[in-house]
Formats: sequence, C-alpha cells, structure tokens
Amino acid sequence: MPNPTTQVAIVGGGPVGLVLALFLDFHGVKATLFNTEPAERWHPKGNGQNARTMEHYRRLGFSDEIRQLGLPGDHPFDQAYFTRLSAHEIYRFPMPSRDERISMRRQMPLTDQLPEPMFHVNQMYVERYLLARARTRPHIDVRFGWHVEWFTQDESEVRLHAGKADGSEAATWRAPYAVACDGGRSFIRKTLGIGYEGDVQTRDAYWAGQFFSIHMRIPDLYPKFIGHRRAWMYWAVNPDPNTRGVIIALNGADEFMMLVKPKDGHRDVDPDEIADWVKRSIGADIPVHIVSYYPWSAGQALVAERYKAGRIMIAGDAAHLFTPTGGFGMNTGIDDSSNLAWKLAAVLQGWGGPRLLASYEAERKPIGHRNTGASRKYASRMHDAVVPADVEVDGPRGDAARRAASELSYVRKNHFVRPEEQDGVGVQLGSRYDGSPIIVPDGVPPPDSFPETYDEYVPSGIPGGRAPHLWLDEKRLMGSSLFDRFGPGFTLLRLDAAATDTGALQRAAAARSIPLGVLDLDLPPARELYGRGLALIRPDQYICWRGDRLPDDVDALLARVTGC
Ligand SMILES: Cc1cc2nc3c(=O)[nH]c(=O)nc-3n(C[C@H](O)[C@H](O)[C@H](O)COP(=O)(O)OP(=O)(O)OC[C@H]3O[C@@H](n4cnc5c(N)ncnc54)[C@H](O)[C@@H]3O)c2cc1C
Repeated sequence: MPNPTTQVAIVGGGPVGLVLALFLDFHGVKATLFNTEPAERWHPKGNGQNARTMEHYRRLGFSDEIRQLGLPGDHPFDQAYFTRLSAHEIYRFPMPSRDERISMRRQMPLTDQLPEPMFHVNQMYVERYLLARARTRPHIDVRFGWHVEWFTQDESEVRLHAGKADGSEAATWRAPYAVACDGGRSFIRKTLGIGYEGDVQTRDAYWAGQFFSIHMRIPDLYPKFIGHRRAWMYWAVNPDPNTRGVIIALNGADEFMMLVKPKDGHRDVDPDEIADWVKRSIGADIPVHIVSYYPWSAGQALVAERYKAGRIMIAGDAAHLFTPTGGFGMNTGIDDSSNLAWKLAAVLQGWGGPRLLASYEAERKPIGHRNTGASRKYASRMHDAVVPADVEVDGPRGDAARRAASELSYVRKNHFVRPEEQDGVGVQLGSRYDGSPIIVPDGVPPPDSFPETYDEYVPSGIPGGRAPHLWLDEKRLMGSSLFDRFGPGFTLLRLDAAATDTGALQRAAAARSIPLGVLDLDLPPARELYGRGLALIRPDQYICWRGDRLPDDVDALLARVTGC
C-alpha cells in the first residue's frame, strides 16, 4: 500500500485545527485533519467568539449560523452580580440580546467597524458545528478518532504516523506541510524542542491558580429563581470562598457551566461536593445534575519560542496559553489560522515565495505576546477582593454592604462604556503586523498607542493593520459588507477615480498567477478611511500596501507581499 498523501496535515481538531482546515478548503487546499477523540468534546470551555473570529466565520460563509447557536434570540447577555443567585442582586452590566444586537447593527453608521460583533456562545456548540461543516467540505479529509503517534520531516516533506484508537487501522501520511493544532500539551511542539516563553502567575490575581470547570443541568434555576432576572453570566459575591465563581447560561433553558476557584485549590472532589458548591452559589437546595467537571489552571501568559520549524507550523494553544480573562485564547488561535492558511495555499499553488511561511511567525508571535499580556492585564483588574461580611444581611446594613460590594474591582473589572463594543475590542480587531517583511510601509508611523490599545480600535489605512470596514448597503445583510466583496485572493481597492489605471499591477499578478481582484469604490468615507486612492488587501483582509498611484515596479511590490 502506498503512503496516503495530503497537502497539509493538521494535528488536532479543536476549534483552531477545524477553522484552519475550513480556511484551507476556502483557498482550495486539501487538508487531512487528525484528532484523537472520535467526536467533538462535550465539555464547555470558551464562551466568546470575538469580533475578529466572527469576521472569519463570515468570510467562510457561516457567521449567521453560528449566531443561531446557544442562547435564544431574546435572551440578554447581561453580566449580573448576586450575593447568591436566589438572593440579592448587587449590580448588572446590561448587554443586548442577539435580536437587539441585530437591530442595533442597522442603526450604526456606514463606517461601523463591528460588522460581526462578538457573540457569546460556548465553544462546544461551535466545535460541533465546525466539525459537521468540515465533514461536508470537499477538500477536508476528517480523521477524528485518529491519533498521530510520531512524525519526521526532511527538506521535501513531513511524514506522520497516525492510528485509530482501537488499533484497527494505521498509516504513515506524507505531506509537504503540517500544522500542530494539538493544544497546550502539544506533543509536536515538545518533540520539535520548542519551549514556551513567558510565565505562569499563581498569586495576586483572582484569575490565577487552580479552578474547576463544571458542566451541569439545573432545570429549576430559570423557573424558580432567575426567570425574571435573566443574564448570561451570574457572579456570586459573598464571603463563602467555595461559591466564589461564575455560572454561565449555555442554552437558556437548563444547561449551565460554572467556573469556580475553591478555597483549597486542586484536590480530589466528588460530584456531590461539586454539586454542593453550585447549590451554595445559588443559595438553594435544588436538583443539580453534574454532567462533567475538570480542574484547570489559570494565570498562564505563555508563547512558543518559535511558530515554525522546517515544514511544520504551530497554531492555537500549541503556540500560546492564556488566562481566560478577555476570552482571547481560542480567538487568537483562530486568527493564527487565517494568517497561515492563505500563505500555505500560496506556497502550495506556486504563487507564494520562500519567505512567505516564515512571515507567519514574524507576524503572529508578537500578537501572541500582546494578547497574552492583555489577558494578564484584565486578570489583574480582578483582585481577590474581600467581600463585606454583611453583604447577605437583609435591611439597611446589608444594603450598605451590597453598595460597597458593587464597587469592588471583582465586580466592576473591565466593563466598558459602550456595550456594543464589549471587552477588549482593540485586542479583537487591532492586531498589527508593522515590521513584517511582507508589508510595505508607506512612511506613516503606526498609532503610538499600539500595542497597548486593548480597549479601543481605531480603523486605519496604514499598511500592516486590518482593512477598515464599511457597509455598502443600508440593509447590512450578508453581501453588503465591504469584506463580502473582497475576493479569496488579493483585492486591489480603487477608491479614487483618478487612480484607475491599474492594468500594470493586474498584468503582473496574472504573470505570477497571483489571484487578484479589483474593487472600485467611489465613496468618500472609504477614501477617508483608507487615506489613499489605492489599497492592496491580502487574502486575510490585511492592508499590505497603499498609495495614490501604483509604484513604478509593480512586480517588485507583488514579489514582496507574496514573500518571493
Ligand atoms: C475555562 C476556560 C474558558 C475559556 N474561555 C475562552 C474564551 O472565552 N475565549 C477564548 O478564545 N478562549 C477561551 N478558552 C481557551 C480555549 O478553550 C482554547 O484556547 C482553545 O480550546 C484552543 O483551541 P485549540 O484548537 O488550539 O486546542 P484544543 O482545543 O486543545 O484542541 C486540541 C486538539 O488536539 C487533539 N490532539 C492532541 N494531540 C493529538 C495527537 N497526537 N493526534 C491527534 N490529535 C491530537 C486533542 O484531542 C484536541 O482535540 C478557555 C479555556 C478554558 C479552560
């Protein structure tokens, strides 16, 4: 039997491996996706698909489907703080429901930079959707239930040996490239001898040290206690250390997760003790069915020393580990996959040069450091607060204690003024690749505030950043975003009637087989956003060059942005 072959072998079918496979498919590249477990995980982890991730889903054609998952359309996404869920409400940070957010979108200006605002739905529902979608795609060979046991690489290819868990089948695949999306314990990263840089914080911040993540069904919680004060996140604020955590609504009916940091850290617990923590958080002895639970550690800010070794790239948790504040872990990994997929496609299809894949590390590793730093900063805003002792007492003494509790950093943490923007919009949309060898700077310096602008995103036409967004139609439906008009390859935006003679670039692109589309936009706000008459947009929606007229040597420009 000859060895099976594929264009890209992806090790790990978590959210990052799945989205990478879908992006490769979008670019016409065949991938084989190996994942040890035979099905998606059924335990809740991340709860936020951020604005950039939702833009990626839009590009792949399914952001609307993702917005149908999780909570019902009219369920608020508020964050609410209670002494216990059945008792006093202390503070509430209102957030619009899915339906309200859709109507808000219609009222935003045409230059709205959040065409796909962050959406709170648990990763497990999304992974189930992504896996089902991957199974329908012609270029993806889904090998769930296949564990990659060893690999080797030389100058021309990677060989990976994978087998089914029951030992019934095994084979050694050959591929020009492989990507390790095999999570925080990545055996590929470790075998390549690549360590993590950074550190693990265990003290001082609330989001550090040993937590438990609990998946549970509580059929009585809505009807008996919170029906009229629904929220997406319920925080318990009281002096009892084993209730200090957060309960998150998953399906708006009976399914919840709880993240809790027990007083004495990691130890053996049984489902009865876990259920007891949940009931104490609710403040009522109601039936709690524990579906699953596992201990996990918060406080990491770790980034792989290298993102590439020979023909193998690293993405997702294999490349960076976060503390959960801000919800950047998975989202940063999905952004890695968007950056990497088109580069792999370009090299495999012959229009990308020898420096293109190296630019993946040059562009994404600094973002790994930036984003893990942002999570760490948000975590530090939530100190392990001392909750006033009287917070649960009825009457004026308790009211005063609850007012004091509502001011704790643990409660106010990182809520921002504009709910439509949500936490960390600068982290979500503001990654920049200034200094990348495949970006052509135009002499205008990037904003001074980068990379520390976590809470603000200022659209900019300066090469190296995400292309600014614009609605092209009042209805703001699929197809009416500027991003929907970008082709799968490069797009040359012509924003100025005077800059229309772009034939030389188009001819040079054709000669190099570079996919290039041209989009004319004669809209003053577009010209203002981009700052020049012409802007060249990469397949991952980043600006790699801009000018008022083409450079004399258009071929050199194309060579540079494709890593030749
Ligand atoms: C409590 C909690 C809350 C979180 N909240 C958020 C949030 O709100 N937003 C956010 O962005 N992130 C969040 N995260 C982080 C997020 O869950 C991870 O960043 C994300 O799952 C990483 O995805 P991944 O695909 O890189 O790796 P993983 O999800 O770990 O997937 C790796 C996959 O690789 C497979 N694998 C490993 N080795 C092999 C092998 N040898 N052969 C084949 N398959 C293999 C594994 O079986 C696994 O399925 C949270 C995490 C936790 C624990």
